[in-house]
Amino acid sequence: MFEIEGHLEVRDHRLFIGGVDAVDLVGEHGSPIFVTNEERIRENYRRYQRAFPDADVYYAVKANGNLTILRILAKEGAGADVFSGGELYMALLAGIPRDRILFNGNSKTERELRYALQTGVRLSVDSLDELKTLASLARESGKVAEIAIRVNPAISPETHPKIATGLSTSKFGIPYTQVIEAYDMAERLEGVKPIGIHCHIGSQITDLTPFVETVKRMMEMVEQIDRLGVKLEFLDLGSGLGIPYRKDEPVPTPEDLADAILPVFKECSDAIGLHPRLILEPGRYITGDTTVLLTKVNLVKEANKRFVGVDAGFNLLIRPAMYDAYHYVLVANKADLPPSGLYTIAGPICESGDILAHDRELPAVERGDVIAVLDAGAYGFSMSSQYNGRPRAAEILVSKGRAYVIREHETVNDLLAKQRVPPHLL
Ligand SMILES: *Cc1c(COP(=O)(O)O)cnc(C)c1O
Repeated sequence: MFEIEGHLEVRDHRLFIGGVDAVDLVGEHGSPIFVTNEERIRENYRRYQRAFPDADVYYAVKANGNLTILRILAKEGAGADVFSGGELYMALLAGIPRDRILFNGNSKTERELRYALQTGVRLSVDSLDELKTLASLARESGKVAEIAIRVNPAISPETHPKIATGLSTSKFGIPYTQVIEAYDMAERLEGVKPIGIHCHIGSQITDLTPFVETVKRMMEMVEQIDRLGVKLEFLDLGSGLGIPYRKDEPVPTPEDLADAILPVFKECSDAIGLHPRLILEPGRYITGDTTVLLTKVNLVKEANKRFVGVDAGFNLLIRPAMYDAYHYVLVANKADLPPSGLYTIAGPICESGDILAHDRELPAVERGDVIAVLDAGAYGFSMSSQYNGRPRAAEILVSKGRAYVIREHETVNDLLAKQRVPPHLL
């Protein structure tokens, strides 16, 4: 079942999110909307941090970079993993301290590197070329950048190929065979100071073995780097822990992940006599299940399949189209009614691939119903677009039984924003 006490509950056949009636929210704020439960963000963060009491938890901002959500995490004490100048700006604005931010990125611009230097955050360097550029920019501005090097550990987790990031063929990181050279260079270059090592093997991973392999491989490198005379303060393992999008299949929890990797980490640390601090960068686990996408039914069409046409598509939630991802769906105003048949939930976008859910058992669906797409809090709004001339949806935060608009609905003015028409066409 999809219910989670205090978070997602069914009362009088209706879905409640954090104690607030989902159907009422659509009545008040319109459709489609993303609805996020503040308490669930806090719970997820605390649970993850509790599983790794001696590690620093850096939230991966790309999963969901809404300022209010970052603010909640800042108040919880989270750090941030940022992947662009924009994400860095938002994280700082939210109040995440600069010494708990790591600026990642496989292709940072010179402007982003300068911005990072100016703010004093640490950087994860993704290539030897970037290392040299960063060092020279740092020298120019009289600064020393504290860095980690992003390593490609050549580990293949079982996940969708588009979200496996540590394969030997991946664009991310420095191949682990060149890592010693990279640290040797970093140690000798003025303007950079290597203090950590970083990797990230992928996302939505539900088998713990690759994480264990990664710890072993990274600790071998920590030892080799130490032999160069470089003392590493931290080992950042990235993230990638999956969440249960399918409600009938259990997936490992942060506790399971901790049980799998912490003993190995300790064993390796003790064996080599080096004890770098662990950093973890969960994104999906922290915000994924906190948010429901509510979308109204425009029509039901009996064709080859029975299609439910809704007002949200891959413009708002691209995961099904991009990764063949599964999201649990239900009818928010008929949440516990018995199924009446198979329905395919189709978005309004002019693409055959714009299907949010295929062949789901649902109660009789009709025009005006509200479909709830669960687990839309990570890589939902943050990957949204205005494709097909569709303004983006509003984001609503529920907190202690109250609802707050944390991002307004866009309008057609937002489609026009920044556009200019040359004089001869006016
Ligand atoms: C995407 C990403 C994360 C977060 O991954 P999740 O699977 O959402 O937890 C962490 N670190 C880096 C470097 C990433 O690119």
